[in-house]
Amino acid sequence: MTIWLDPAGSHVSESAQTLARILDLIRSGTATTRPELASVSGFGRTVVTQRVQQLLAAGLVAEGDLGVSTGGRAPRRLELVPDAGLLLVAELGATSISVGIATLQGELTTFRREPSDIAAGPEIVLTRVEELFDDLLDEAHVPLERVWGVGIGIPGPVEFATGRPTAPPIMPGWDGYPIRERLAERYVAPVWVDNDVNLMALGELRRGVAMGESDMIFLKVGSGIGAGLVSEGRLHRGARGSAGDVGHIEMERDSQMLCRCGNYGCLEALAGGKALTAAAERLAREQSGSFLGDRLETAGRLEFADVHIAARHGDPAAGGLLASSASLVGLMLATLVNFHNPSMVVVGGQVAESTDGYLASVRQAVLRRSLPLATRDLRIVTSSLRERAGLLGAAFLVIDELFSPGILARWIDRGAPAGHDVSLVGAAS
Ligand SMILES: [Zn+2]
Repeated sequence: MTIWLDPAGSHVSESAQTLARILDLIRSGTATTRPELASVSGFGRTVVTQRVQQLLAAGLVAEGDLGVSTGGRAPRRLELVPDAGLLLVAELGATSISVGIATLQGELTTFRREPSDIAAGPEIVLTRVEELFDDLLDEAHVPLERVWGVGIGIPGPVEFATGRPTAPPIMPGWDGYPIRERLAERYVAPVWVDNDVNLMALGELRRGVAMGESDMIFLKVGSGIGAGLVSEGRLHRGARGSAGDVGHIEMERDSQMLCRCGNYGCLEALAGGKALTAAAERLAREQSGSFLGDRLETAGRLEFADVHIAARHGDPAAGGLLASSASLVGLMLATLVNFHNPSMVVVGGQVAESTDGYLASVRQAVLRRSLPLATRDLRIVTSSLRERAGLLGAAFLVIDELFSPGILARWIDRGAPAGHDVSLVGAAS
């Protein structure tokens, strides 16, 4: 599972590269004794001994049971100390905040989710994220020094190098906001920010249904629509970080449907959860006495959950809205499949997960419109991690960065990436 997200890999020293490689072999369980490390990595025994010593001294790796002897004394097994440091992870959705604490092996030890409105702006939302982080740390009795990194996903385009949101359509007040600097100062640890769908893709790749896939797409159809692309086992962010932002592809010429991005006829404005809810309200007003009409009369407004429930009860208007969404999403996805040729597409988000028929319609549209070679072994499946996908992805984002050769070399001799050295921040870019 060698997945370096460090584009500066070619500039880091050989000793940093070998150190990261040894750590990678140990934490993935590929090689766990010194003789195994030497034989799998191809490095000399002296190099292996030195690097292992460095990892032991930092407390990042510990000696465990005896391994298998190949003649002579049995060697000690080496293992990652998963809680040598802990990670704070958060996922900001359009209408929710999720937070958690994760180990260095990418296990969530605790997590929490609550409703929130991203449009309330960065001051209100990030203050709440910090309160939730502080509560989690208090409850788990984790002192600040043990926080080795922070990973956070947001529902909009992020310039990955700076960790700043860039003209996010549904996040008023967030454009260019220094999320990384704010959290790095408070938690005195390096911070990485990414788009939420990228993190969901990473979560499914490392711990979910896409484990072992090397080319995959995670498509989120929720309130908004976006895709995370994995190419050759790595997240593909593109030149600036906006790869996969497919919600604003024009699907309808001369459309009257205004999108939150300011254009007309975007996929998201026609097929996203917010658009479907608005369309359901229009229909409900025209059809009093229908399931949706009654619901609107009682509640005064509709939520996407009402559309979902109505469709499950066989309401033809709600069913029609979901069917048309699935067919548009499938049409767009067929283009992505032709373009990217993934072996798996993972579909998640509250709209995609609303009915069994949704995924079936998406699948049908993709098969109809993609090239036979592109769909020969293609699997289109639902997310297995669901609401935890983004948090796990945030954990792996931080783990990949902390253990990448260039960044690992900067902190290993100090024993931890936590501390006042903010030069670590942004070091991966
Ligand atoms: Zn748009």
